[in-house]
Amino acid sequence: MDILFCTSEAYPLIKTGGLADVSGSLPKALHALGHDVRIVLPAYPEVLQHSAGLTTVAELTLVGATEPVEILAGHLAGSEVGLYLVNSPAHFRRPGNPYLQDDGSDWPDNAERFALFARAIVALALGQADRDWKPELVHCNDWQTGLVPALLSLHRERPATLFSIHNLSYQGLFPAETFRTLRLPESLWSIDGVEFHGQLSFIKGGIACADHISTVSPTYAKEICTSAFGYGLEGLLQYRSNDLIGILNGMDSDTWNPATDLFIERTYNVHHLQHKLANKLALQRDHGLPRGAQPLLLGYIGRLVEQKGVDLMLAILDALFRHPVQLVVLGSGEQALEQQLEAAAQRYPHQLAVHTGYDERLAHRIEAGADALLMPSRYEPCGLNQMYSLAYGTVPIVHRTGGLADTVVDLNERSARDYSATGFCFDDTTPEAVLEACERALSYFQASRIDWWKLVITGMKKDFSWPASAARYLDLYRAMCGIENDVEAPPQLDSIAHGTALLDTLTPESRIH
Ligand code: ADP
Repeated sequence: MDILFCTSEAYPLIKTGGLADVSGSLPKALHALGHDVRIVLPAYPEVLQHSAGLTTVAELTLVGATEPVEILAGHLAGSEVGLYLVNSPAHFRRPGNPYLQDDGSDWPDNAERFALFARAIVALALGQADRDWKPELVHCNDWQTGLVPALLSLHRERPATLFSIHNLSYQGLFPAETFRTLRLPESLWSIDGVEFHGQLSFIKGGIACADHISTVSPTYAKEICTSAFGYGLEGLLQYRSNDLIGILNGMDSDTWNPATDLFIERTYNVHHLQHKLANKLALQRDHGLPRGAQPLLLGYIGRLVEQKGVDLMLAILDALFRHPVQLVVLGSGEQALEQQLEAAAQRYPHQLAVHTGYDERLAHRIEAGADALLMPSRYEPCGLNQMYSLAYGTVPIVHRTGGLADTVVDLNERSARDYSATGFCFDDTTPEAVLEACERALSYFQASRIDWWKLVITGMKKDFSWPASAARYLDLYRAMCGIENDVEAPPQLDSIAHGTALLDTLTPESRIH
């Protein structure tokens, strides 16, 4: 198939979170399955710096740009996946975060920037930019590409559109006047289009107008149809629930593999688990914590924001550190949370190490060195760190929500007996529930190392690699395009026939009902 994958970030070119990981991995996995998938990204300076051999395939005159907008073509660094870059220096040639200024506030012209991005994508989708290539399907991701399905819906001859929600809380909401300044087609200003309670909502354009919608885990697909997780879009999502599917993200097992990881102190695998201890001792050494196998070493990696439950983690520190527990935190985000964590690290110098900032190497070293990884997220569309931690034999302690619920099996009597447990889950987003889960993990860790290693090994044997998830996307793409099964197609496609309700043909656990 010919697929245009539209994203505002992709690893290794530019990354602020999980979307970049997915955008770097899924196209590669689809390419490996024999498909022509091309990524389109804004030409931020960092992206240009990391992309070699680019050629200009088009110069477009687009609404919202005073200068012609170049479409550059090349390949995603380190792969054969095609890459298009939308080069409009006035919109994208800025250093740093793609969405935020240095003080953490949004770029004031984000609506103009991503509306221009959408218009360039529409030109590519309709074969008006690269005359040699026209996709059958356009896969959009998150609000930055939400206008694409909306604009494409106005064309009779167009590719199929899929809109993926990676995090519903980021919506691209702007005042109604912005709709006029962007000169969007009048017909889109409606309850069935981009209007959301009198505001312009980019994400609504994707949800309301795409042919199909996906999100990054089956549980999150159900959650976003409820008022607790739907941010006011639950009604629309319920209405579209026949076209909504949850497909769990995969993880890049080339980058995240303890047997080959060049960042970590000592590589290991299930057969040489004793080498994991060298990573624990190195992590303790590097962060000034007393070295030893005995304390339970917890890790936290992620954005320091309310979503991730950092406040819950802060609230339990006094109680947690009465036990032989250490914690290494890596993250950046809200200043107040950073400061509270740093202050706590001064109070508990032998038990808490805090590193604020973004540090890829340290993320790998925490995954390898910690005994357990704490993820008290209030909601988590998919979450990647718990998958990395399972692969690294680092037991996840997670809130049972979204992708965390779909990837971690709580340790209880039954799951301990049949060796299906992989971690510790809790149901309430309260400090008491987080503490109770950490204490359960500690008791298990202290009671029997053999049982602990069994838990670790069950997790390490789980397969969350991309090929399985990519095959599910492919099932969906084919179903959306009415492409019949062929000999090489994955077995789930057997039942697909033209004219049937598309999602009825997909595997039951990924459908929301
Ligand atoms: P989200 O996309 O909500 O931030 P995910 O768990 O889906 O959360 O993905 C986060 C990704 O970003 C993971 O690959 C994680 O390791 C990485 N990450 C987050 N914060 C940091 C940090 N401070 N340093 C290094 N990597 C980080």
